[in-house]
Amino acid sequence: MLRIAIQTKGRLNEQSMELLRELGIDIDPAKRKFLSKAANFPIEVLYLRDDDIPQVVASGTAALGIVGLNEVEERGCQVQIIKRLGFGGCRISLAIPKGEEYDGVEYFEGKRIATSYPAILSRFLEEHGVRAHIEVISGSVEIAPAAGIADAIFDIVSSGATLVSNGLKEVEQVFESEAVLIAGESLSAPEQELLDELLFRIESERVSRGLKYLLMNIPTECLDEAVKILPAMRSPTVMPLASEGWCSLHSVVEAKDLWSKVRQLKAIGAEGILVLSLDKIIP
Ligand code: ATP
Ligand code: MG
Repeated sequence: MLRIAIQTKGRLNEQSMELLRELGIDIDPAKRKFLSKAANFPIEVLYLRDDDIPQVVASGTAALGIVGLNEVEERGCQVQIIKRLGFGGCRISLAIPKGEEYDGVEYFEGKRIATSYPAILSRFLEEHGVRAHIEVISGSVEIAPAAGIADAIFDIVSSGATLVSNGLKEVEQVFESEAVLIAGESLSAPEQELLDELLFRIESERVSRGLKYLLMNIPTECLDEAVKILPAMRSPTVMPLASEGWCSLHSVVEAKDLWSKVRQLKAIGAEGILVLSLDKIIP
């Protein structure tokens, strides 16, 4: 049994659940408890606050976890980063009141900076030889300057709208984050085997994303030209049709190239073009 820790609620919960669903793992959200077993895969989901996920994985209480890279970096836990998952993208930045003049990190010398990420911040300041006072607060960091608690903040930014509405401007982007799949440093052999199966499924999902399946009828004499237009995984599938001189051609194309390929294929005589959504490609 493989245990995976994901966020109970919050920005990463929905996409973490969605990822498990895409991998064919059936977790009933209605029957959700602290710990839920999948109906069709030897995996159980442990729901936690994101802050606790790196520690729980480092200690081996859960073999795997899905969490922001920012949390992993901040906690400094011993875990392996197995895969970047492409969602939950954000950055942690330094921001100052918008009327202030800024000409480099020396600005922060002697200043008070409010943050929930003291470890990442102190590493950054140290690297730049800047000494500042770090005020650790756990929420609503962006109001700290207006409230007189700090001169600047170091906080998560995605669109920047929260900064603007609090009269702040971003001056240094320090850390880029996204959701990652993490694992303990020593998985048992059965856990490693299940993780390999999950990675295989993730890879199949990634490969098939953005692809379309294309079928069409084409005069046999135009086949060579059509094959040149359609470089498939190996080569397109060709099947004879009942009517003489025609065949059916099947191939996979990237969605972004679809309309230009369709135009080229029609120009050489393709007919009855069907475009189908592609669920999975198993490499
Ligand atoms: P929890 O209750 O689980 O501790 P939280 O309030 O600490 O939740 P969320 O706000 O749900 O955390 O954010 C979870 C993660 O989502 C962040 O650590 C970060 O990796 C990512 N994230 C992406 N965009 C943003 C954003 N605009 N603000 C905050 N986090 C973001
Ligand atoms: Mg949290």
